[in-house]
Amino acid sequence: MPLDVTVFLEVVFLGTGASVPTRDRSLPCTAVRRGSDITLFDCGEGSQRQLMCSGLSFMKVERILVSHLHGDHILGIPGLLQTMSLSGRSRPLLLAGPIGLEKSVQEMLSICNGELVFPLEILEMQDGDMIEAPGLTICALRSLHNMESLSFVYRELARPGKLDRRRLVELGVPEGPIYSRLQKGESVLWQGKSLEPSEYLGPERPGRSIAYSGDSLPNESLVIQSKGVDLLIHEATFAENERHMAEAHYHSTSAQAAQMALKSEARSLALTHISSRYKDPSLLLKEAQEIFSNTHLANDFLSIKLPLR
Ligand SMILES: [Zn+2]
Ligand SMILES: [Zn+2]
Repeated sequence: MPLDVTVFLEVVFLGTGASVPTRDRSLPCTAVRRGSDITLFDCGEGSQRQLMCSGLSFMKVERILVSHLHGDHILGIPGLLQTMSLSGRSRPLLLAGPIGLEKSVQEMLSICNGELVFPLEILEMQDGDMIEAPGLTICALRSLHNMESLSFVYRELARPGKLDRRRLVELGVPEGPIYSRLQKGESVLWQGKSLEPSEYLGPERPGRSIAYSGDSLPNESLVIQSKGVDLLIHEATFAENERHMAEAHYHSTSAQAAQMALKSEARSLALTHISSRYKDPSLLLKEAQEIFSNTHLANDFLSIKLPLR
């Protein structure tokens, strides 16, 4: 399918807390909107209301990727699915996550009598598995947490190169639909001559990419898989003076998240999964920025737009 080159890519943090919600932070859920296609990473309790408050359409959620089966990451699933059903969704929804996801989701749905009116596809993923969707891929890799757990890398497919308009004008090809078809990579028949996109397009332009750590200790395989991403979304449950807590519970400090961004040569970093002990998380941001300056501390409803490369 040809790609829309003007496509919009935005990350919206819907829940940035860890384990328990606070007045300021809902439980983990991050939306990636690409054009009208929405992917959710994790779906903690309250995510459906956060979605509604954010202005994103919950009916446009195409897939939910679950990092692991701890309650703070999955308890929003049955409610969201039920609301989609009551709203008359007919399109299928993909729910993907680690081994054990199907059993957990079916049990949650059976407890609340959740008969769905749309097809729900449940996919259990392992290290290295990949989802392909129009214009993008999402790769799963094992994270380092205290249960079966995944990180994800979301990558847009490469876009066709820039169109050499000057050459086409010189040839006398009129501006308009022919140009946009060539830009999309289609061959065009013009005045008995076949115009091949390869002759008029520059080198392919890389798509944008986002890595999502889920809950994890710092993980070398995420560094490798997330090389050069536009945005690394990394958990930062603790500050550096509580590193022992981070290690004991298989989490990361914000400084470790920043080291991950540095090593993976990410363009930017967003810290999320902030422990409720930090009423003022500016220390987490400061510790990270000392290592990796282009760091955001995600608050609920923070939006980060990723420009085309
Ligand atoms: Zn968690
Ligand atoms: Zn967890």
